Amino acid sequence: MTSPQAIDRYAANVDPGVRASVYEGTKVPTEWRRQALWRDYADPDALRKLASQIKQHTLDHLDQYLEQATAKMEANGVEVLFATTPERARDLALQVLQRELAKTVVKSKSMLSEELHLNAFLEGYGIECIETDLGEFIIQIDDDIPSHIIKPIVHKNRRDIAKSFEREGLGDYNDDPETITRRARKHLRTGFLRADCGMTGGNFVSAESGRMVLVTNEGNARWCVTAPRLHIAMIGIEKLVPRDRDLGVMLNLLARSAVGQQLTVYTQFVNGPRSPGKDGPEKMVVIFVDGGRSRVLGSEYREILRCIRCGACQNVCPVYRQASGHAYRATYQGPVGAVLSPLLSNDFTQLADLPKASSLCGACNEVCPVDIPIPDLLVRLRDKAFREGATEAKRGTPPMAPYAWIATHPTAWRTGIKLSNVANVLPINLTPVPALQRWLGARELPEFRGGKFREWMNARKH
Ligand code: SF4
Repeated sequence: MTSPQAIDRYAANVDPGVRASVYEGTKVPTEWRRQALWRDYADPDALRKLASQIKQHTLDHLDQYLEQATAKMEANGVEVLFATTPERARDLALQVLQRELAKTVVKSKSMLSEELHLNAFLEGYGIECIETDLGEFIIQIDDDIPSHIIKPIVHKNRRDIAKSFEREGLGDYNDDPETITRRARKHLRTGFLRADCGMTGGNFVSAESGRMVLVTNEGNARWCVTAPRLHIAMIGIEKLVPRDRDLGVMLNLLARSAVGQQLTVYTQFVNGPRSPGKDGPEKMVVIFVDGGRSRVLGSEYREILRCIRCGACQNVCPVYRQASGHAYRATYQGPVGAVLSPLLSNDFTQLADLPKASSLCGACNEVCPVDIPIPDLLVRLRDKAFREGATEAKRGTPPMAPYAWIATHPTAWRTGIKLSNVANVLPINLTPVPALQRWLGARELPEFRGGKFREWMNARKH
């Protein structure tokens, strides 16, 4: 929770309307809370630099820390497996589930699992997967994809969700957020009780103790790692830190940057399977996943692997905020996604246009808790795309190909400008392109005020 002093300090610098909403705790954007909480530290930038050095040092000695973490985990009773490719990671998860006769899996939110498209894969083998983070649960019932690292359903409103719940038989239409949450909780609880396996990611792993850390604000990961008899954690190899004490730095920064809290509500340290006479899973398996990370580590873009998936860069990015996450066509969106998604992709050319989705204003680097030079990386990636002819190839594909044709044919362009006047007042259902109908159904176009430049220019000539 935001400390009163921090809010005071922040509120003193903002206008009265904003100050009132900060005090009331309503409609306070995460970014404001993040800024307020940064002021808790005498020298927040020094902390950011420290976190950056911890992560960079770990990456520079990753082989050594992976070995150390594996030895500690095994000593703690954990089975540790390694997957170099996404295919191998999916296969290993399936093999463990089949070996342990697990048919139902409850999952806590994991971006790596999204990256691996794990649910669809496992369901193809008759294994039921139940997402238990509320946002991910809604994504799952809507057959949708997340649009933000931390807030996967930031593109939906409570009316959309109420309709989905009604459609899924979770009660009559009711868009009261508390009712929606209660219904989800009641529904998910039965899943926790009958699941054979709980599957999680891992926010951090300490190489020193082999301890992994999970953070959530809903407590669902806690159910996942305690109720079922088997726990599988799928973790990207870059999630290591050298020592337990480094977790203090990372957890402080992650909670502040991700959700504007001093600490997330549930922060769990998981050592291994249950000890005799205690609760917890009988068996714990960790699958460390490379999935292209070693390739990135050996490249000039390696700093992006310092990312702790806080989503702060998404919150401040002017392009992400206008375009929304789905426009990035990838698991990771916003500034971090514009760098990471093309690099992790098996075909760089498919996402080589993403680094251009930035004004290079630098806001992403300013807020990044591990000081990743995102604008520099974007420029380097633009250069790579140019050198490899990847952006040229992109011009021939929709939606850029029709746009490029119109933009290079003056008559078509002029006609388009005139037609856009009409499109602006056209009822949505009369818009000829279905994709445009969907888009206009979710957004309001600003009033059209353009199209007069040529007239104005011509008038000046006479
Ligand atoms: S790049 Fe930085 S700001 Fe963006 S999600 Fe990663 S850690 Fe957070």
